[in-house]
Amino acid sequence: MSTTALTLDEIYALAHDCLTKNGADAANAKALSTTIHNAERDGSHSHGLFRLPAYVASLRSGKVKGDAKPVATEITPAVIRLHGDNGYAPIAHEVGLPLLAEAASRFGIAVLGITHVHHMAALWPEVEFLAERGLVGMACTPYMPAVAPAGATKPLFGTNPLSFAWPRPDTTPVVFDMATAAMAMGEVQIAARDGHDVPMGTGLNADGEMTTDPSQIANGGVLLPFGGYKGSAIAMMVELLSAGLVGENFSFEAKEGDNGDGGPPQGGQFILAMSPKIISSHDDWASHCAGFFTKLTGLEGVRLPGERRHKNRLSDAPRQINTPLVEKIRSLMD
Ligand code: NDP
Repeated sequence: MSTTALTLDEIYALAHDCLTKNGADAANAKALSTTIHNAERDGSHSHGLFRLPAYVASLRSGKVKGDAKPVATEITPAVIRLHGDNGYAPIAHEVGLPLLAEAASRFGIAVLGITHVHHMAALWPEVEFLAERGLVGMACTPYMPAVAPAGATKPLFGTNPLSFAWPRPDTTPVVFDMATAAMAMGEVQIAARDGHDVPMGTGLNADGEMTTDPSQIANGGVLLPFGGYKGSAIAMMVELLSAGLVGENFSFEAKEGDNGDGGPPQGGQFILAMSPKIISSHDDWASHCAGFFTKLTGLEGVRLPGERRHKNRLSDAPRQINTPLVEKIRSLMD
């Protein structure tokens, strides 16, 4: 695989220029380029520049607005609805997350229900934002059918990511962020591009048979949930929280309304914030939990989720980006 070394500033500038030339206004280009920059900085390769051509496709087709101006409405002091104005998720987060953090810090718990948004990024940025403010965060979003529920060979669930962040004063939060599919479709696509097999159990081919060939899964096949029926139940929960509860499209409805341009469909997102400072009856919830993390990481072979990304973040060295991808992005600016 040939790669091109780009500094983090160059990654930001490449994304920003490409988005601006394809119809994003200053605020939307900044929010989305920051998300892409942060994904590459942390080594979330499947949700950095890799997604830019699809972002551009939906700006060009007019499905996603490059000048979206999301609007928040306080339904109760602890329930905030956010209309994403059919833009990409990062600009909606810029509007909604500070309101959510403020409400949860005051009332102990608060929910942000986002509608009319197009989400194709990683979900750790939204929960890290909350944890950096001393809050426990949880977020999830559906997509379009790509995952067969346990027992089925046809897709109904999206890859339905779920993220969770736990605040730790004076150090990085503990964060997990995972597709409820055995593997995120972005990772399957990257494996197909780079010619790697994927583990058995990742998905089925078009005939409903298990395969390790990522291109057979990505083209006409279907992903499986992680952990069999248990992962399938969590994928169902993601549909219910971010579509049923928030009042937006289930994955199958999102596909019915999508124009097939390759970008993300219109959907919703559920984000929950909780304040341990208010909820915990322990005198010092933070040191109580620090003791738990010490026990956990004291076990041979254990590392905390999020640790890999937080280590990557410490390096300001250039990142190695797939060269054909860089060329493709440059061609989108012609
Ligand atoms: P991974 O399987 O790579 O990682 C899932 C989580 O497990 C991460 O938090 C990771 O932490 C942690 N982890 C990995 N290995 C270990 C280990 N050995 N010990 C402890 N923790 C570990 O993620 P997925 O492939 O499932 O998802 C990738 C991304 O795709 C996510 O960011 C998700 O939000 C995104 N996605 C977005 C969608 C959308 O529609 N917007 C749809 C589907 C997925 P660490 O990062 O530190 O390795």
